[in-house]
Amino acid sequence: MGVSTFPPVPAAAPAPLLRIAAIEAVYQSAIVALHGVSLEVRPGEIHALLGANGAGKSTTLKAVSHLLPAERGQVRSGAIHFDGQDVAALGPAALVRRGLVPVLEGRRCFAHLTVEENLVTGGIGRGARRREIAAGLERVYAAFPRLAERRRSPAGLTSGGEQQMTAIGRALMAAPRLLVLDEPSMGLAPLVVQDIFRQLRRLNQEQGLSILVAEQNSTVALQYADRATVLDAGRSVLHGTAQALRQREDIQHFYFGQGVAEEAPELAAA
Ligand code: ATP
Repeated sequence: MGVSTFPPVPAAAPAPLLRIAAIEAVYQSAIVALHGVSLEVRPGEIHALLGANGAGKSTTLKAVSHLLPAERGQVRSGAIHFDGQDVAALGPAALVRRGLVPVLEGRRCFAHLTVEENLVTGGIGRGARRREIAAGLERVYAAFPRLAERRRSPAGLTSGGEQQMTAIGRALMAAPRLLVLDEPSMGLAPLVVQDIFRQLRRLNQEQGLSILVAEQNSTVALQYADRATVLDAGRSVLHGTAQALRQREDIQHFYFGQGVAEEAPELAAA
């Protein structure tokens, strides 16, 4: 088992779609939330970001989407590149136009708008034309048939699972290449969580959509992910294939803040 800060990239591997290199992030110039997080998302993979409450998952995803300044946070050192471009040089809207589309924690639907109106806002955000929006809606309804049934309902009156699907659908309307998802399982029944992850897997397999998904629910995330990174107290402490991580009995220790590795051991030729 090699020890490295980054997963080693085999010579033949394609360039990563997203590369996070040793970032440190702070809030209000004082609260250090990330002390050194590194990971790579390869084109076409589902990459799970795992860790306990407060480990730094949301902060990492906000750093990736350039949303920390809105919370008086910043990346103080290290670098993030999406498709070879320095994220620090691009605003959140420019990142969405380039295909990096976040779905942040809490689902954040517009409660008074219908499900369909919520979806349409995702297309408008990238300046899509009427015909593109219609095609986008068709794709979203094909992925989440439940949303087609609920299209005329105010989003605020739909179930938690339907709101999560609406939030994901709205992101899909922006034609993402990398979907950045924060805790899609939060507050949802196990069957609904399975349904959402199954649809994400299908989008990944059928359309080549790359996904970076933060989850406390390691069991479900490792069931669907290709590879994963574990965060503990603001550091990336483990990288590996989902298969290798599933076999680690000590993985649950990370969710209780125990068993912190000094560096990021490789679990497999990830
Ligand atoms: P959770 O699942 O609870 O969201 P997480 O792994 O996503 O956990 P973060 O939300 O990224 O963790 O939090 C990492 C650290 O940064 C925590 O110590 C948290 O208190 C702190 N933090 C997060 N947001 C802010 C903020 N807006 N201002 C100050 N500190 C923050």
